[in-house]
Amino acid sequence: MTKMLIVTKVTQQKKLFMVDSNYRFQLNSKRGKFTCPECGANYRYSRFEDNKTGELLPEEYGRCDRENSCGYFLSPYHEDEEGKKYVDQTRLHEYQSSIKYSDDSTLKSNLTMNNAFSTVPEELFDTTFSSYENNALLNFFQNKLSKDRMLKLRQQYLIGTMSNGDAVFYQIDKQGQIRGGKIIGYSEQTGRRIKVNGSNPAINWVHSIWSLKDFNLKQCFFGEHLLGEYPDKPVSVVESEKTALIASVYLPQFIWLASGGSKGLTDEKCQVLKNRHVVLWPDLSPDGSTFAQWNLIAKRFNFMVSDLLEQEAILEAHEQGLDVADYLLNYEPF
Ligand SMILES: [Zn+2]
Repeated sequence: MTKMLIVTKVTQQKKLFMVDSNYRFQLNSKRGKFTCPECGANYRYSRFEDNKTGELLPEEYGRCDRENSCGYFLSPYHEDEEGKKYVDQTRLHEYQSSIKYSDDSTLKSNLTMNNAFSTVPEELFDTTFSSYENNALLNFFQNKLSKDRMLKLRQQYLIGTMSNGDAVFYQIDKQGQIRGGKIIGYSEQTGRRIKVNGSNPAINWVHSIWSLKDFNLKQCFFGEHLLGEYPDKPVSVVESEKTALIASVYLPQFIWLASGGSKGLTDEKCQVLKNRHVVLWPDLSPDGSTFAQWNLIAKRFNFMVSDLLEQEAILEAHEQGLDVADYLLNYEPF
């Protein structure tokens, strides 16, 4: 077979394989073993998995465990004779190429705005998809959601994981540009934010952790990249990223975006929602101020505002600042 050219003996590649633990693509024998495409032996062949999407790579990327008699091993990091690697074909390009531009003006305005903000380098972005099993928030969800739903969450929202298990919520705009990554630590047991001295610690960002110089953070909605993917779906906006994730499981008929806080809903961010059906879901606040504030923006943009939570709320809930997620978690997902 033609792939013979890029097949190398396991023994030669072992070193490469051993240092693999931080990479996006990894051999996964937990998914079961397959038939080797080279020697045809059954149940001897481990395939590479994409930790970002949870999907297996094409069949040719894998390793036969018959080291001495077969030795087939093809890594997605391996350069073929033309100097190409599988890994280079993937990454964010998939996203960028899948985006449908509604008209030329969208594209143009994006190009001129391009210099006004920094983006997170894809190589660094990729490093946060190697150990999602350590992600405390995802582990909290795992007890409540099916495997399929977990996979879909990870695929759609591209939730990253820092080495300490904190979640990274990337803000990827409609054009597929990674404008920033917000880092939040959660308790695996309660799914709530980890408090320091009784209050929420300051938000951290990947560009600070990675010391990216002169990074110009210009935020967009969390989940904004999904707008291009589902041009006809109605849009819901909540405050917190976690709420958007949970709500997307319960009410998948909407695209769920997060503003990143009560003050995170701005006219500038909302430009991207023009000509869409939009429902805002403000959090409860003790004095109802968020509700009032979001109502003003809704009027300007012709959005709807859900008062479900305001109506259902009892005084106690107001004081705790409950949001849609807390409300939904009282019910089983469908
Ligand atoms: Zn084989």
